[in-house]
Amino acid sequence: MNQRTIAEKISCTGIGLHTGEPVQLTLYPARSDAGIVFARTDLAHPVEIPAKPRSVASTSHATTLGCGDATVGTVEHLLASLYSLGIDNVRVEVDGPEIPVMDGSSASFVFLIRAAGIFTQSSERRRMRIREPIEIRDGERSIRIDPARSLQVSYSVDYTHPAIGRQTLKGFALSGQSFEREICRARTFGFLHEVEALWRNGLARGGNLDNTVVMDESRVLNRDGLRWADEFVRHKVLDLIGDLALIGMPIEGHIVVERGGHALHQQLVSEILNTPEAWRIEGPVPQARGASDFVPLRTPVGASA
Ligand SMILES: [Zn+2]
Repeated sequence: MNQRTIAEKISCTGIGLHTGEPVQLTLYPARSDAGIVFARTDLAHPVEIPAKPRSVASTSHATTLGCGDATVGTVEHLLASLYSLGIDNVRVEVDGPEIPVMDGSSASFVFLIRAAGIFTQSSERRRMRIREPIEIRDGERSIRIDPARSLQVSYSVDYTHPAIGRQTLKGFALSGQSFEREICRARTFGFLHEVEALWRNGLARGGNLDNTVVMDESRVLNRDGLRWADEFVRHKVLDLIGDLALIGMPIEGHIVVERGGHALHQQLVSEILNTPEAWRIEGPVPQARGASDFVPLRTPVGASA
């Protein structure tokens, strides 16, 4: 399989989940081996932030990437779309501190990439093949990756809330089609008391029922209800794919998650990179890929998803 980019540039505008301000997002084709690079175009000096594990600045509520003082928040829904549609190289320009939230899912980004078209490049793609299991346990939470022929995900969530309860998606095999059909429309979710606390702290100003599934103590408040009864676990799978995308190449392994969130997902990414004996890169030999790609990253477990 060769590397891919988008066939032409494409833009959309939406609001940032945290700032509530309009943000313009533009995707540009990028050369082979460029990877995915975010660029803040609203700053006096444009700053580029590569979508790599070492760029992770925060995993609280969403995944935020940063370089110096410049950050781009809520990158995971866009990254999940790019990874699932097999886009290796793209430049992502934003004129604000976060990717627009759109409807809280990846659906708009998949639409955007499909509208731009996909261009197959001449260089071969690298893949990461997992050869030995890697596991992280933290009380009732756990995440592991086992060897498999392609990326598969088994994910469980367990909430006392009556609208969620225990939900499991088992053996989901990722492809562009399966992502579009089963995952990409699953929205972000939150509880009313949490959302109100965020608002009091000046956060999630753009969050509303058009881009978040919100629940009070007993039920879902969105007028049209859920897109699937198990939309919650599907969104967790979406987030996981977006977080894994930071590895920068397709991964061949089966990931099993119990009660995960962004912090746990990034811990797995970091543990994978710190355990090179457990995997092998297949495909062309990387040209002096910097050791900086493999800087250990330690994120606290327990931060909210
Ligand atoms: Zn999410």
